[in-house]
Order: sequence, then structure tokens, then C-alpha cells
Amino acid sequence: MEREHAPVLIIGAGLAGLSAAMFLGLHGVRALVVEKHAGTARHPKARGQFPHTMQALRIAGVEDAFLAAQPADPGFTIKIAATTSGPVFHTILAGETPDFSAFSRNAWANVSQEKAEVILLERARELGADVRFSTKAESLEQDADGVTVVIRDLITGTAREVRADHVVAADGHRSPVREWLGIGRHGRGVLGEGVNAVFEADLGADFDGRNLLFYLRNPELPGGGGAFTSTDDRNRFTFGVGEVDDIDEQRWTELIRIATGRPDLEPKLLACNSKTTTSALVADRFGAGRVQLIGDAVRTMPPHGAMGGNSAIMDGFSLAWKLAMVVKGQAGQGLLDSHDAERRPYSEVLVEQQYANMVRRNSPHLADGTEAEPIDPAELILGYRYPDGAIVREADEDGALFENPAEPTGRPGSHVPHDKSTVDIFGRGFVLLADESTWDTKATEAAKALGVELPVHRVEDPARYGVSTRGAVLVRPDGFVAWRGEGDLEAALRTVLGR
Ligand SMILES: Cc1cc2nc3c(=O)[nH]c(=O)nc-3n(C[C@H](O)[C@H](O)[C@H](O)COP(=O)(O)OP(=O)(O)OC[C@H]3O[C@@H](n4cnc5c(N)ncnc54)[C@H](O)[C@@H]3O)c2cc1C
Repeated sequence: MEREHAPVLIIGAGLAGLSAAMFLGLHGVRALVVEKHAGTARHPKARGQFPHTMQALRIAGVEDAFLAAQPADPGFTIKIAATTSGPVFHTILAGETPDFSAFSRNAWANVSQEKAEVILLERARELGADVRFSTKAESLEQDADGVTVVIRDLITGTAREVRADHVVAADGHRSPVREWLGIGRHGRGVLGEGVNAVFEADLGADFDGRNLLFYLRNPELPGGGGAFTSTDDRNRFTFGVGEVDDIDEQRWTELIRIATGRPDLEPKLLACNSKTTTSALVADRFGAGRVQLIGDAVRTMPPHGAMGGNSAIMDGFSLAWKLAMVVKGQAGQGLLDSHDAERRPYSEVLVEQQYANMVRRNSPHLADGTEAEPIDPAELILGYRYPDGAIVREADEDGALFENPAEPTGRPGSHVPHDKSTVDIFGRGFVLLADESTWDTKATEAAKALGVELPVHRVEDPARYGVSTRGAVLVRPDGFVAWRGEGDLEAALRTVLGR
């Protein structure tokens, strides 16, 4: 069997895998990506990029492409109704975009997965990724020196062996890699299964070019409900119901007529019966040695809150700088292990938040008092913390997973307090924030000792970061505070890099 070597092999080219490839490229590592499908997603699926995701996409140079790809009016309407023509039981959003302008310069974008993946793919390739479609990973074995993965070209049928230094499993909710590694999942389990149709229809001006999501409650629909969404294309919609078996085209037409409240509608069916599983599950571990898992492979949640797609992209962003430093020999296994320590606790919260949203919005019959209390969206999206991981913990660290983004503390594990003028200095590598020029020499020496780059950015108000004028703040490539203080910078950097 033919063999080839890859520093990083990414299995799966969805939002998570393509993001990981793009951000790795940004950090100078060319990943090999294998995807069993012949191309990117053909279903709109996840839509909506929150400001933290947009900031990451800005760093990768694709913010403008995302803003240009969204519909002219990015406002979003979410309603609970009997049909899309009414009656409406409850309006969750009425053509608004969530307003985070008090905390973040970044707007939100409303791009669907089918367009998002194309942008990510193009940028990942531009940055050097080798993305191969119609190529399936069939087995994985790891030893102390590397990982051996058998991949098969599904067009020619030829199998070859990839010897990878590291593997990223971005292979979706069924994740064969997770199975091969014997990593279990925990949580509320599978909540429902369904089938989806994509169709074209002229539903009138109210539907034309608008971002709409209707959760339908209607006894005439299978299971008593369904979900109706617009897509990025005019007059193209998706409709899903909780039916396990395939539905024939005539029945789809009937169901769409019920859902739209228009008995004479003649929908043109473009695709029928794509399967969906709604579940709330988190992997027991997000990594094992040289293999790290991201996206739906580690976390699935009901779609109520749009964090499935956002967190898949942000997993790629969070993991890429760590993996790149390990590949370049600048960091140790400890930095990779922090992927689990940092992303898993946050994921547990996201899954429970979206489960609670689902119960409140759409499945009140499931309410049993165990649902999580809602966390303010700004805090959930812009105020999450990593109290454990690649940071130097402070003695009074309380383990809080969230803080108010309007009152950032600057403590290790938190997003670095920033404003519009400083936000763009973060994202590529480590940065040291300091007022006193003595830090220039200390930064140069620490950087030299550890073989990394560490530019110093002068700040006039160190108190804002919770240090005195004599102190400094070490900020990670992902914009989180790693350490702050007046002490030994080199020791701090060494701890963060897992060396
Ligand atoms: C109909 C639908 C609607 C959704 N709506 C929303 C929404 O509104 N908001 C939201 O946030 N989320 C939504 N989601 C969820 C969202 O799509 C996922 O969270 C997101 O796609 C996760 O990205 P991923 O890259 O981890 O996984 P995927 O996009 O599933 O990508 C995994 C990839 O791995 C590939 N793969 C698997 N095994 C192998 C193998 N052995 N070899 C090679 N390749 C392999 C698969 O083919 C797949 O392309 C929706 C999902 C569906 C299905």
C-alpha cells in the first residue's frame, strides 16, 4: 500500500475540519484534509456567525467574504406558530440581529453552512491545505511516534496509508474516530430523529429574501410539529418533521401545504428525506494522545441557539494555534491536552443551554425542572472563560466559566480586555502587554529561550488588566490571558506551552 506523511491529518471537511485547516494554514502548517463526500455541504444547515466567530474569521481574512455572502437583510425572525401563515403563538426574534455592539466591534453575519463551507474551503486551500474530497478514513492506529490512518479514494477505490504526526477528528456526530478510540459520550442522549426537505415556492413578499425560522406546532404534522427555514436563496426553503422513515414526494407536498397554511401551493421539491438527529451529548474526552476531536464529534445539541456551527468553527480556531506550536516543536503535549481541559467544560454548558432553549421554545412537555437557567447571550458568547488549561492559574482562581464581558477582569483564562484599537493585535501569536520598557528585554529573552516570538505592545493603563504599572500581561494567540504579574515571564510561558 502506498504511504505518505502529513504533519496534521484532518478527518472531515465540515465547518470544524475546514476551520481547523484554515487556521492551521494561518499558523504556517499545511494540513491534509480527507472528506468522504464529493464536496461541501449541499444543505443550508447551521446559519449565523456570532461576534466571537466573526473576530476569528476576521483574523483568517474571511470576514468580508462572510459579510458579502449573507442575505441583504441579515435580520432574523424566529416564531412559534401553527403554520407560516399563522396563527403565531410566540415571537422570539422579529427581524432583528442580536446587538453585541457594547462589547464587540464585530457584527454578526447570517451565512448558512452551505456558503460558509465554500468560503472556508477556498481560504484553507489558499493557505496551503490539501483538501481531498471523496476520500474516506477507514481505520486509525496510534503509537508513541505517530498515527497511521488508512484512507480510501472512493472514486478509484485505491487505499493508501497516511502516517500523520497528529490527527484532528472533525468527522461529525457519528465520529468513527471517536468510536475507534473508544471514547464514550454522556448527556441527555438522542432527543429525536427527523427528515428534511428542501423546496422552492413563491410564498410572497413577506418571505422573499428574509431570514425566517418557524417552529411549527400543529397536530396535522407528524409528531405534532416541524421546523421551517428560509435559505440564502430567494424562494428556497427547508422543512423538517420528526418522522424516521422516508416520506414520498406527494406526502411532502401535502405536509408543506399544511406547514405554510396554503392548500393550493405547488412546491418544487429539490431534495427529500435528508436525515437529522437531535441530541444533547458531550464526548467524555476531547483528545487522546496525538488525536484531538472537534465539532459535532465532541458535542451535539439541539439547534436552538446556533452554537453548533459557531462552536465548530471556534474549536478549529482554539485548537489550531496549539497544534501548530506542537508541530513546530515550540510546545509540548501539555498544550494539546489543554484542548480537552478548556473546550469540554464550556461545551457542557452550551449543550445544556440549547437543550433548555429547546424545551422552553418548542418542547414544553419535556420540562422537568432539570433545565439550565439561561445565561445572558453576551456572556455565553463573549464572556466564557478557561479557568483550567494553558494558563498560569492565580491563587484566588474561583473556576468561574463565565464573566460579564462589560466588566472584563483580565485574569488568566479570560478574554483579554480590548477595545477597537487593540483588538487587531491579537490572533496570530503571543503578545505581551506592558507599560514599562524593561519588559522589552524580558520578552526578548523569554522568547529566545523558548524559540517563539513575543512582541511587546505598550499599554498605558495596565490597571485595566488587573496589574500594576510594573506588571505585564501575557496574551495567547486566541486572545485569552495566559498570565499576568510582575514575576518570571519565561517560567510563565514555559508553563503555558506545556514544556
Ligand atoms: C438539517 C440541519 C440543520 C442544522 N441547523 C443548525 C442551526 O441552525 N444552527 C446550528 O448551530 N447548527 C445546526 N446544525 C448543526 C450543524 O450543522 C453542526 O453543528 C455542524 O455541521 C458541525 O460541524 P462539523 O464540521 O463538526 O460536522 P459535519 O458538518 O457533520 O462534518 C463532518 C464531516 O466529516 C465527514 N466524515 C465523517 N466520517 C468520515 C470519514 N470516515 N472519512 C472522511 N470524512 C468523514 C462527513 O462526511 C462530514 O462532512 C444543523 C444540522 C443539520 C443536519
